[in-house]
Amino acid sequence: MSTQYKKNAIVIFFFTALYLYSRFLLRATGDGHPQIVNVLLLCGLCSFLFTSKRTFIFAIPFFILLTLYAPIGLTYGYPTYQYVTSLSATSVGESLEFFRLIPVKAYVYTLLLLVAPFVLHRIALRFSIKPCSNKLFVVCFAVLSFFSSGAFLFLNETKASVEKVNKENRELDSYVNTNDWLGAKQTDKTQYDDYYLVIGESARRDYFHAYGYPVKNTPFLDSTKGVIVNGMESAGTYTIGSLRLMLTLANTNTWEPNYNRNLIGLANKAGFSTYWISNQGQFGKWDTPISAIAKKSDKSYFTKFQGYNELNVSDFVLLRTLKPIIKRSTAKRRLFVIHTMGSHPHACDRIKDMKNPITVTNKADSYIACYVSSIKQTDKFLEDLHTVISRNSHGRSFSMIYFSDHGMAHRDIDGVIQLNNSYVSRYHHDIPLVKISSDDRERKVVTSQKSGLMFVNGLANWMGIHAEQIQPYDLFDGVPDSNDFGLSLKPYKVDDPAIDISAAISSPD
Ligand SMILES: [Zn+2]
Repeated sequence: MSTQYKKNAIVIFFFTALYLYSRFLLRATGDGHPQIVNVLLLCGLCSFLFTSKRTFIFAIPFFILLTLYAPIGLTYGYPTYQYVTSLSATSVGESLEFFRLIPVKAYVYTLLLLVAPFVLHRIALRFSIKPCSNKLFVVCFAVLSFFSSGAFLFLNETKASVEKVNKENRELDSYVNTNDWLGAKQTDKTQYDDYYLVIGESARRDYFHAYGYPVKNTPFLDSTKGVIVNGMESAGTYTIGSLRLMLTLANTNTWEPNYNRNLIGLANKAGFSTYWISNQGQFGKWDTPISAIAKKSDKSYFTKFQGYNELNVSDFVLLRTLKPIIKRSTAKRRLFVIHTMGSHPHACDRIKDMKNPITVTNKADSYIACYVSSIKQTDKFLEDLHTVISRNSHGRSFSMIYFSDHGMAHRDIDGVIQLNNSYVSRYHHDIPLVKISSDDRERKVVTSQKSGLMFVNGLANWMGIHAEQIQPYDLFDGVPDSNDFGLSLKPYKVDDPAIDISAAISSPD
């Protein structure tokens, strides 16, 4: 029994030594980090060549030749053009210099590599190790091969994903690194228990029936109690460009964001529990600054890990996430930010699950029909959200705001009029703004110009938050803001009012 153990121990030692030799020989040929699979291939080859006298004599000159490169391989890596030229350099001095830079250590290793095959060969003969017929040797080889074969690819993938998330999070931290609000606190104007801020996507005001569009696509907003503001101007023409200014205390002179003074930081400091529930990407190329703000919430939920188009998830999924959170009882006031996909291009993808989309008989207006339908879907989303909140709040009072991040511009592509961001439209900044609260008794529609650059001030006012840097700004008082901070002077490329598709509608509505 004990001799069997001894024999097994010698086999394992032999295998390990052979493996280390193979690995080291590969490194000596210049491969600084040899892959396990390559080490095993060489290890397999050596196990045959080193274990019989005949093959050993045949193989040994080849191994000695390989080993002679070791001092250079261990120091400089693969033979490259540069090393070859310095070796064949005109002056002998340069060649000597090349060898002088090789550390003594490398020569010692080379000597070990030269001796190793002879030692391994002696051991194999002495203990008559026959790799092919030795089960233990084959098992060691098979197990290592299996682990290196990618059969456990998920282990590597998981490690890579974890590293990626950590890297992305570090990037997010570079946007928001401190919370610079001073003296933020709730006041007696903090009227409600829960505040909901719904961020719409690419929704142009003049495509809402509630704002005068001829097609009836907003039955909920047409009839709800609350305040409908006509005159809200977004701070930019695309998601990041606008939200980075609308959700932070923007500089109204330079139109620059201030990430360290953002809405979530303000609510946190004022003692709110903060939640961010998003149907947009977490780490996409274009989402980063907004995700950085989102991540400062007490809890953030993303339906998509990467960018916008990873999966076409319906905005209604957000309600499923939200419902159990609303139900939880808490003594704290809460702010929920709900970031939707709304009417994001391509609008026709947004309405795939819609039961009764608006359709038209002509090809030219087919995309506009999708867009008008996507607004209708957003109206339904707001209605459902209102119902979910009303039913699950357990008597907590609430107020919700809906606005869109920016509008869109028309563009004819192959005879179909589309809406996208490739030009700046005269109406690009025109966005809807609606406030619906649990104690609303009437419906108010006001026409008043309001600036997206002052939005955080307006939201602070809505939540009754006081802070040193906050200016009083009421988004819902119906008083036009006399200052648009130069927006009306900005150039635009197209003057493209909403296209009325009501004459071409084919579906009964
Ligand atoms: Zn957007």
